[in-house]
Amino acid sequence: MADHSDCIFCKIASGKIPSARVWSSDDAVAFLDVSPLAEGHTLLIPRRHFTDLRDVPADVLARILSVAPKLVGALMNATGATGVNVLQNTGASAGQAVFHLHFHFIPRVEGDGLGFRWNAGSYPSGRADEVLAAVTAAMV
Ligand code: AMP
Ligand code: ZN
Repeated sequence: MADHSDCIFCKIASGKIPSARVWSSDDAVAFLDVSPLAEGHTLLIPRRHFTDLRDVPADVLARILSVAPKLVGALMNATGATGVNVLQNTGASAGQAVFHLHFHFIPRVEGDGLGFRWNAGSYPSGRADEVLAAVTAAMV
């Protein structure tokens, strides 16, 4: 079995290092992000070590995320946010810095200045069909 003894989120899950814990279950722990993008910015992690969304079994993922409706509502009620972004970074190129699967829950209000630059593009003629064929083939 791989050694994850240096993983900071494994240590948070087991209580070896402290965190501002919001909620926990047999499968998952939620705690405040130490460098929040907004007050109440919360991380939801599995207790078991998975690197990212590619190696977590679907049934475990469902159990981890089953608290999401309650957590989103609680964050909005507690912070006065009018929205929440749920974000998961898989891979360094997507911004992942801690390689233990986690979901960001980021409270949002109008005009808070957060958010992606949503630089939407478009497909050149015929390219969408090629991409669609590649992705559907990869899904089998
Ligand atoms: P990501 O870039 O998606 O891997 O996000 C990692 C997040 O973990 C960042 O938002 C960090 O602020 C947060 N983080 C790192 N160490 C801790 C910690 N000890 N307690 C709480 N949050 C942490
Ligand atoms: Zn870990």
